[in-house]
Amino acid sequence: MQVNWESIIQATYEKVKDLDDKGVVASYIPELVHVNPDSFGVHLSTIDHIQYGVGHFDVKFSIQSIAKVLSLSLAYQIVGDKIWTRLGVEPSGTAFNSLVQLEADKGIPRNPFINAGAIVISDILLSHLKNPKDDFLSFIRSIANNPELDYSSRIAASEKSAGFLNVALCNFIKSFGNIHNDPSDVLDFYFDLCSLEMSCRELSELFLFLANNGRHLSTNKPILTSSQCKRVNALMQTCGFYDESGEFAFKVGLPGKSGVGGGIVAVHPNQYTIAVWSPKLNGKGNSYKGMRFLEAFTTESQLSIF
Ligand code: GLN
Repeated sequence: MQVNWESIIQATYEKVKDLDDKGVVASYIPELVHVNPDSFGVHLSTIDHIQYGVGHFDVKFSIQSIAKVLSLSLAYQIVGDKIWTRLGVEPSGTAFNSLVQLEADKGIPRNPFINAGAIVISDILLSHLKNPKDDFLSFIRSIANNPELDYSSRIAASEKSAGFLNVALCNFIKSFGNIHNDPSDVLDFYFDLCSLEMSCRELSELFLFLANNGRHLSTNKPILTSSQCKRVNALMQTCGFYDESGEFAFKVGLPGKSGVGGGIVAVHPNQYTIAVWSPKLNGKGNSYKGMRFLEAFTTESQLSIF
């Protein structure tokens, strides 16, 4: 099917741009407030090498929890299916930073995309990488062919100064034996991962391997096996938006992942990735306009997976 991406994205952007944005910029990480709240960018990358961006698609922002997909991908590549002895694959139905299920579940987080799960993934990476911070950055730079991707030490330090809930999560999981390293090292690495900054263009390019059966688009080298890629996409579909995951599947119909910096990336296997950024968040911690844009986009293009 020949798709006129440009006109669909442009028309959808115009429609959503002037909506009354009911969201609020995240402030529990103090540095995240220093952003233009009205920023709004979109970028699409297809596996046929079509690229199209509109609005603030080239402005870097804090990707926060979107990094959880990348840390899962590297940990999955390194340890394979043994990873699922340390965490589950079920939607939590709770907020991203919730502590409540961990006691009943004996320190096994429900999935890798809530904070508890991503903290366990950080612990796994710490156990397997020589220089975790550098090695992880090399991993994403090589996937993206983009040496400019980097952490923000400013955002990481800001989250560290206020991340008491994550400290509690990490120590609680440690008490059940599901954190093997020193909690402060695990948290430092976790805050670094969350501080990654990139633009919608960079984000949509980086995620193309998940639309390409786990293979690097230009070299065709496997980053994940096709079965692992299927599973990462399945987890994004079922768990990518915390207690709004059902709603995202219902309205947008794509695997995706959000972050409290206001970014969302969504993947249509074998077709395209699309990244949206608008910093004001709805009550569930997901970008208000980002959700609205993607809903209108898949409805207009008829290109959801369903
Ligand atoms: N770094 C953030 C936190 O741990 C990530 C949360 C998010 O983006 N949903 O709270």
